[in-house]
Amino acid sequence: MRILIVEDESRVRSFLRRGFVEAGIAVDEASEGDEALSLAQVEPHDAIILDLTLPGLDGLDVLRQLRSKGCDTPVLILTARDSVDDRVRGLNCGADDYLVKPFAFAELLARIRALLRRGTAMTSVIAVGDLQIDLVSRKVERAGCCIDLTSKEFSLLEYMARHEGEVVTRTMISEHVWDINFDTLSNVIDVYIRYLRRKIDDPFEEKLIQTRRGVGYVLQRPS
Ligand code: CA
Repeated sequence: MRILIVEDESRVRSFLRRGFVEAGIAVDEASEGDEALSLAQVEPHDAIILDLTLPGLDGLDVLRQLRSKGCDTPVLILTARDSVDDRVRGLNCGADDYLVKPFAFAELLARIRALLRRGTAMTSVIAVGDLQIDLVSRKVERAGCCIDLTSKEFSLLEYMARHEGEVVTRTMISEHVWDINFDTLSNVIDVYIRYLRRKIDDPFEEKLIQTRRGVGYVLQRPS
């Protein structure tokens, strides 16, 4: 899962970044509207957190432009402007939710998860063969057996499941699950794939995680 934070105050940005990274969510940051627009176009995000008072392009302009370009990523407005007018204007411009500063991070996280649920209402449980991944309760079962995953293992599995049947490269994994540069991380990813295999595949006959040598990994039901 990857979120774009659009916020000009670096203190707030780093507070948000820390919270999301701890929750296993990768983060991109923009401090200005134009930067946000270009980031939103190169990288698909699962949600955008948008401050309204930005230097240059205002948050509402960013939102309008995103929507007019066909971007339907869920947007949560995070702002100190708390008049009813402001809220209505934000929602009219295509925001999905609105949270007023100061806020508790736990509430923000809960609202983001709710937005993601709404966005993927049909897929709050992803099934790959007999593996069931509940994105809301973060529970994983295979053939009816509960599987305990750490938060990193869950994030990795969630990412692969959202790309079921597609090869995910180590670079993709490092960007979306670890949010750091690939070079330092190649081994770590392989180690985590091993952890996942031990829990998801080893006890079962059919293997869901497959290696594409030199490329990456695929999560798919065996054919
Ligand atoms: Ca601001």
